[in-house]
Amino acid sequence: MSDEKIWLSSPHMGGEELKYIHEAFEQNWIAPLGPNVNEFEKSLEDYLGNNVSVAALSSGTAAIHLGLKLLDVQAGDEVICQSMTFAASANPIQYLGAKPIFVDSEIETWNICPQALEDAIKDRIKKGVKPKAIIGVHLYGMPYQHKEIREISEKYEIPVLEDSAEALGSFYDGRACGTLGDIGILSFNGNKIITTSGGGALVAHSEGIKNKAVFLATQARDDAPHYQHSEIGHNYRLSNVSAGIGRGQMKVLNQWVEARRQVFEFYKGFLKDFEQIVLQSNPSDKFSPNRWLTALYFDDKNGYDLRENLRLKLLEKSIESRPLWKPMHLQPVFKDFPYYGSSVSENLFSKGICLPSGSNLTLEEKDRIKRVIIDIL
Ligand SMILES: *Cc1c(COP(=O)(O)O)cnc(C)c1O
Repeated sequence: MSDEKIWLSSPHMGGEELKYIHEAFEQNWIAPLGPNVNEFEKSLEDYLGNNVSVAALSSGTAAIHLGLKLLDVQAGDEVICQSMTFAASANPIQYLGAKPIFVDSEIETWNICPQALEDAIKDRIKKGVKPKAIIGVHLYGMPYQHKEIREISEKYEIPVLEDSAEALGSFYDGRACGTLGDIGILSFNGNKIITTSGGGALVAHSEGIKNKAVFLATQARDDAPHYQHSEIGHNYRLSNVSAGIGRGQMKVLNQWVEARRQVFEFYKGFLKDFEQIVLQSNPSDKFSPNRWLTALYFDDKNGYDLRENLRLKLLEKSIESRPLWKPMHLQPVFKDFPYYGSSVSENLFSKGICLPSGSNLTLEEKDRIKRVIIDIL
């Protein structure tokens, strides 16, 4: 029987991860600091370039929380956030007692719409509150419209927190995603392009900001022999054991990105014959996505039914797929906050789907998926 479960995106080890875990045990660095943490940070800095400084943290969510703090977001402030995303982009706004303002996506990259963003900023300023930060997200590894977003950020002097949780290995105009915002964040959760089982990182443009992130992530201890605190801190550092997995994963990052891109090409190859299917695609060759997940929508008034039919048939054959991210302004927990834009993200959510995209998909698995999809369409 060939119906073993095919996952959307599962962990894919490269082979050297255990070596670094063994080192951690041999040296007794079983703590949220140590050589693996330092070396993992260094390899991320080398990979990302642009003179960034990286702080390895316990999750991408923790990185967003600290990132917003470093951008001076405080209780009562407003923070603009791309509506179509995972809840982890927006939750930290609420951890800080600040208020999320949600903004629609544009139809090219499916990420934050520059026009809706500027409308939102103008209206909030008119209402008497200038937003404190903008959270943009590279959904499924597709870079947002960086040039346009940057211009708006500079025009209104509002910094960008770049949620690059899904976009390690993506580039915009030759520049690594994660380095485009005033502060960037990465995630190494089990389903991401590389994993530390659970983990994340904050990407800073100065050593000073990185040090401040590490300070806040280690309970904000003042420089004193006793435990002294002048600020509220967190316990957000990455474990040295987990960082060992990260060191191993960095060795295969480029290969895994290449494999994900091949998965995308595989789908594109046989889906191009179906007119109503629109794959998430690069607006221009400035955009170099890592293709974390291959995603598409049905451009049809029955798009929702076509999507559900496909999803359920795949499920029947033990193949995982998932609707696109449900926009935050439609979530019960966020429905009362302001929203700017039209129905681009709502449409994508109702008609779109992500297909299995792991870098470890075998030829047999790809064949199984293809047969099911062709059969339905
Ligand atoms: C995964 C993810 C996060 C959160 O990262 P964790 O490491 O799981 O906390 C944030 N934003 C987006 C867009 C994500 O996909």
